[in-house]
Amino acid sequence: MMSLGEFDLIAKYFDRPTRRAALGIGDDCALLAVPTGMHLATSCDMLVEGRHFLSTVDPERLGHKALAVNLSDLAACGAEPVAFTLALALPSADEAFLGGLSRGLLALADAHGCELIGGDTTRGPLSICISVFGLVPAAGAGALLRSGARAGDELYVSGRLGDARLALEVFRGTLCLTGGDFEAVRRAMEMPQPRIALGQALRGIATSAIDLSDGLLGDLRHVLQRSGVDAVVDVDAVPRSATLRAQPLAVQRLCTLSGGDDYELLFTAPPQSAQQVIAAGISAGVALTRIGRIVGRSGAGREAQTALIDANGRAVAHGVASFDHFRT
Ligand code: ADP
Ligand code: MG
Repeated sequence: MMSLGEFDLIAKYFDRPTRRAALGIGDDCALLAVPTGMHLATSCDMLVEGRHFLSTVDPERLGHKALAVNLSDLAACGAEPVAFTLALALPSADEAFLGGLSRGLLALADAHGCELIGGDTTRGPLSICISVFGLVPAAGAGALLRSGARAGDELYVSGRLGDARLALEVFRGTLCLTGGDFEAVRRAMEMPQPRIALGQALRGIATSAIDLSDGLLGDLRHVLQRSGVDAVVDVDAVPRSATLRAQPLAVQRLCTLSGGDDYELLFTAPPQSAQQVIAAGISAGVALTRIGRIVGRSGAGREAQTALIDANGRAVAHGVASFDHFRT
């Protein structure tokens, strides 16, 4: 279909020996063994040029991010990555682009022992659709879900929030950053690190979890709705970089509360599990911060509510909604 040829392209950039899958690229289906007592966790994410990434992005970083956002979903469930499939629409068989894309993609895949086992390749406007497959125990300390948050639980977040949104604002021209500051936030936007080790370490400890892709308040709302509870968030406690702290408070709040593209984990755990939470953060090598707590919801059928307070306990108004593809 293309100058290089569809099957040559697959062979050159994507077909590599598999070790975990029973059968990889080359047949009509790939085959994955699911050990007894395990569930296969699966998730799918699509990246479309102009919507999820800029046309100027480095292909290697694009490859990294395309898989990272999918691995982040496995992390949120506490699953161990095993394999992924790749559906690619390409305007042309640009070898420089394909070389960079496959390098970034396969480097992150190797880092997490996650094998490329199949996909689909077609000509069309650039888009990358990945499905990931992971394993999680079917019983006991099983998958982390959005639905388990209970009144009294503490609310935690991993890493730092808001830098990816800060970078986006620089690209949009609403803010100006230079030199190392810009490179650091750009890296946060283009090279998110999926919290795979943390997700697995939190199984049996966290009562609920979600990965932050659309902004803290919007993603927290999903947890609250699924769990039937409300939350109180201390906006001054939300961890952020020195670069973001140097911005006006309104920018800091926009980026941390409604930012999007953070790919950190937001999770809940009861106060008596605080030591285990700290140990999970240390074992995964990720900073964890307590940013609030879960409270009971009064009034049946009411929408979930998040009360925002500052470090002095005073109420904070915040009107910015989370990212929604069909509203913004
Ligand atoms: P089918 O026509 O049976 O759907 P294809 O001829 O499209 O299969 O693909 C041939 C093989 O190459 C299949 O094993 C498929 O999973 C794999 N494949 C196609 N595109 C990709 C890709 N972008 N990355 C990895 N594997 C791919
Ligand atoms: Mg077929």
